[in-house]
Amino acid sequence: MNKLVYLLLEWYHQEKRILPWRQTKDPYHVWVSEIMLQQTRIEAVLGYYERFMNRIPDIFALAHIPEDELLKLWEGLGYYNRARNLKKAAQIIVENYNGIFPSTYDEILKLPGIGEYTASAIASICFNEPTVTVDGNVLRVYTRIQEDKRNISLNNTKKEIRNELSQMIPLESGDFNEGLMELGETICLPNGIPKCNLCPLQTFCLANKHHSWSKYPVKDEKKAKKELDYTIFLFTYEGMWAIRKRKDPGLLHNLWEFPNVPGKLSLNVVKAYLENNNIEGNITKSITNKHIFTHQVWNMTSYIIKLKEPLKEYLWKKPKEIEEQYALPTAFKPFFEEIKLKNVEINIK
Ligand code: SF4
Repeated sequence: MNKLVYLLLEWYHQEKRILPWRQTKDPYHVWVSEIMLQQTRIEAVLGYYERFMNRIPDIFALAHIPEDELLKLWEGLGYYNRARNLKKAAQIIVENYNGIFPSTYDEILKLPGIGEYTASAIASICFNEPTVTVDGNVLRVYTRIQEDKRNISLNNTKKEIRNELSQMIPLESGDFNEGLMELGETICLPNGIPKCNLCPLQTFCLANKHHSWSKYPVKDEKKAKKELDYTIFLFTYEGMWAIRKRKDPGLLHNLWEFPNVPGKLSLNVVKAYLENNNIEGNITKSITNKHIFTHQVWNMTSYIIKLKEPLKEYLWKKPKEIEEQYALPTAFKPFFEEIKLKNVEINIK
């Protein structure tokens, strides 16, 4: 196994991608990048990371940033609780640790929004603690090398693999962890054919020897996502558009959205809905959008409704103001692009 570790480290030192958060061992930078990278591709994170660091360069700035501004910076990255937890953790670090990032796995793990994986990544990369990071990339590489048939969807399997990897971890623990993850991301690909001819571990790898890589890792079938219909009301009045804050404590909590109701309403039903609520306006059918979340799919139908009077329960803003100041989740972005495009045309009619 020592040879395998040596080859992996040698490959990582030569081939690792140059990324902004790899230019430093500052835990603040590593932490923010690790949280952004959860469920998000590196290419998508680069621009966000740069903007975030320009506006929020350290833990103190993060602890004090207003939530709306933080969410606006996070807009489009999704999983907004990640951003809220960053702020909560920064406040704890300022209060309990005088603003100095805790330096051990056990302490880091206690912070909100930080699980075993992120705590290990920060502890090993920034503080050289010999603790293993186990993510989908690591599990793929590890099970392919050994043609390991254990089901990686089971927590027990992850725990076992974590223990096994702990026996191998060298002094350069951060590089070992990053090397395994990098190998999974760039060479031992999840979809499509792995680039075994470029892999430093190919002589050790049973999946390479038997061309069996497509069978590993073994995991549970994905559950079908729940499909939900929504009708979006794009209310407009004198060049302004109605938005509101989501009260739903679940998905997209406290973010801004266009008013909407569950179900796919036809034009006639929308007319009746407005009449019943004493709302007067011209209704036009607008675009549809399908948005895929991790566990559900939203099928969204929209109507532009030009009102004679603004409705008091909403906030009324021009498109430019919405764009600059309010965090709209990606699911609502196509509707925003549509109103931006049609705003003048609709409001001078
Ligand atoms: S040799 Fe191929 S299958 Fe084996 S770890 Fe490397 S890329 Fe993955």
